[in-house]
Amino acid sequence: MIPMSYARAADAEDAVRRGAAAGARYLGGGTNLVDLMRETIERPEVLVDVTGLSSEIEETKGGGILIGAAARNTAVAESRAVRERYPMLARAIVAGASPQIRNMATVGGNLLQRTRCIYFYDEQGSRCNKRDPGQGCDAIDGLNRNHAILGASSACVATHPSDMCVALAALDAVVHLRSADGERALPLTELHLLPSEHPEIETVLEPGELITAIELPAIPFAARSSYRKVRDRASYAFALVSVAAALEVEDGTVRDVRLALGGVATKPWRAWKAEETLKGRPATADSFRAAAEAELAAAAPLRDNAFKIELARRTITAVLGELTGLEA
Ligand SMILES: Cc1cc2nc3c(=O)[nH]c(=O)nc-3n(C[C@H](O)[C@H](O)[C@H](O)COP(=O)(O)OP(=O)(O)OC[C@H]3O[C@@H](n4cnc5c(N)ncnc54)[C@H](O)[C@@H]3O)c2cc1C
Ligand code: SF4
Repeated sequence: MIPMSYARAADAEDAVRRGAAAGARYLGGGTNLVDLMRETIERPEVLVDVTGLSSEIEETKGGGILIGAAARNTAVAESRAVRERYPMLARAIVAGASPQIRNMATVGGNLLQRTRCIYFYDEQGSRCNKRDPGQGCDAIDGLNRNHAILGASSACVATHPSDMCVALAALDAVVHLRSADGERALPLTELHLLPSEHPEIETVLEPGELITAIELPAIPFAARSSYRKVRDRASYAFALVSVAAALEVEDGTVRDVRLALGGVATKPWRAWKAEETLKGRPATADSFRAAAEAELAAAAPLRDNAFKIELARRTITAVLGELTGLEA
């Protein structure tokens, strides 16, 4: 038996005070952390339940939305403001997990869920640098059909599993944080780290730092946005490739675009190169394909996952086509 204490945080200040203890971890819906505790991959000594903190979804002065980190995934997907102004986010959430899991899972927990690499979970039989730093990575020469083609290193090739984070990356979401040292905010695209030589360090968070909220800035053209997830089964499966996109077209020309990819990279992947390629070009299938090519030029496939390059190209082209009414 592994001894452990549990406390429910009264407010953010209380959470941060308790979260500063050695071996402390925040507990959201527990849909990922508790699974990892059962497998003894995570062994917290203190669980600080943060589900009683802010779950409000409110308007900001700048015309955006602030979502409390304790908001359940279902509540965010069903929010009228989210569905009308950021439909890609509602679609991304609904594409994930199951209704029961989405009812439990929180926004804060979704951001920090860990990879679904099968070797990461196989504590008894497999080598994994993310689980046991310096041990080696059995995925690189193993079964790697689901692994990353972008952002990987010689130490780790695992994908980031979140659907919600892909939409948040595309939407320029800002993560609000609190610790004993005060508050700070950073773009979601800067929260997760590439694996490099240290895949066990997954984010820029300091020990005990609490996610308090996610802020979505006003992006009027995001009202015309979409999320498409390609996977092995219609439900209850993680993405092989996913695309979150918003497109602003004027007189047949792409004025602005937001594009992010899931299922293909070691972190939620903002497709900056594709966006740059697309801006100012005609909104045609040829331009969309050229943008996809630009983003995927850096792809480094493994033995089993080269198919993801063409699948990502086609999915990017199809989603952008759907947004311009070009898709059949
Ligand atoms: C069967 C199954 C299928 C799934 N399929 C999908 C899928 O298709 N797509 C998808 O995106 N996800 C999927 N998920 C993952 C699911 O979305 C995550 O488990 C969930 O979002 C985690 O949220 P949680 O609140 O339960 O987090 P928890 O499990 O409570 O916590 C996860 C991590 O976040 C930390 N944490 C929680 N809240 C905070 C906070 N406020 N500040 C700082 N740290 C915090 C915890 O310490 C822990 O490290 C699936 C899960 C399961 C079990
Ligand atoms: S890909 Fe990453 S998570 Fe998977 S076994 Fe290798 S080091 Fe571990």
